[in-house]
Amino acid sequence: MILDGKKIAAEIRAELREQVQALTQAGQRAPKLVVVIVGNNPASETYVANKIKACQEVGIEAQRIAYATTITEQTLLSEVHRLNSDSSVDGFIVQLPLPDHINESTILSAIDYRKDVDGLTPESMGRAIQGLDAFISATPKGIRELLARYQITTEGKHVVVIGRSNIVGKPMAMLLMQRPYLSLPNMSASSLGDATVTVCHSKTRDLAAICRTADIIIVAAGSPKLLTANMVKDGAVVIDVGINRVDDLTSPRGYRLVGDVDFDNVAPKASFITPVPGGVGPMTIVSLLQNTLQAYNEHSR
Ligand code: NDP
Repeated sequence: MILDGKKIAAEIRAELREQVQALTQAGQRAPKLVVVIVGNNPASETYVANKIKACQEVGIEAQRIAYATTITEQTLLSEVHRLNSDSSVDGFIVQLPLPDHINESTILSAIDYRKDVDGLTPESMGRAIQGLDAFISATPKGIRELLARYQITTEGKHVVVIGRSNIVGKPMAMLLMQRPYLSLPNMSASSLGDATVTVCHSKTRDLAAICRTADIIIVAAGSPKLLTANMVKDGAVVIDVGINRVDDLTSPRGYRLVGDVDFDNVAPKASFITPVPGGVGPMTIVSLLQNTLQAYNEHSR
């Protein structure tokens, strides 16, 4: 069965639109997200445009603040401090990657965790791991929501996460191993968590054997066809986070997007599987909108 992220994300956007409408009809201001972008990386431009469009679709006010690649770290830091103290802004994100002369960690660490709707600051991640209120980064949050909406529980299951990045692998593993009572606000299923999680990476020995013991496999490696059918036990749930460009002369763009899973051969063995595109990607954007509304609600308390 296909885990249809596109459809679920559309349902969540409709729910969010109603919630935002209820606020504005009651005379309150709309939630506001600011997206800071530095330079003109084409992939970043596309991601930012998609985020702004998704906000507009549900009635969240979205502002794009663009800086040239030449901006100094100090000026960007001042902008972060300004946004931290601007009470009209509920949440903001600094689109990554940043140019080489700017230290990403310095910039991320300066973001107030209460406005960190990307959930990427050390404070947000530290709080989340301790089960305190914090925003969860969008992709793991979206995957958790997707599992919840398809009533796929994780309690007692063996989940293998391939990838250990700060934005996907680590927070994903952390969310799934939590006790549900530590789960964070705004999640629809308390039955998610309580999994036994194995995190794999490029130095893992015999990845195939480990994956074959998994009830749920989440692949976030950025490597096309990394997960093949011989690595998947019958009935496993397969979540493909990867987004990779592969040459395709039949496509007008000259390339197409594929995930990290050999979909055609893995799908017949899996009980549930996400497609690429249309699986995890749409859930990632919708999670950012949910986090922004959550920031607004906490802000206006
Ligand atoms: P990173 O490059 O930061 O991390 C990749 C991880 O995968 C690393 O931990 C790496 O191991 C591991 N890895 C790479 N190759 C292998 C391999 N052959 N075997 C085992 N482990 C491997 O990537 P991200 O986490 O940022 O992103 C992962 C993928 O997900 C990318 O394709 C990205 O485009 C996509 N993505 C999709 C999103 C969505 O919304 N759908 C959102 C975010 C990312 P090591 O640490 O040892 O190097």
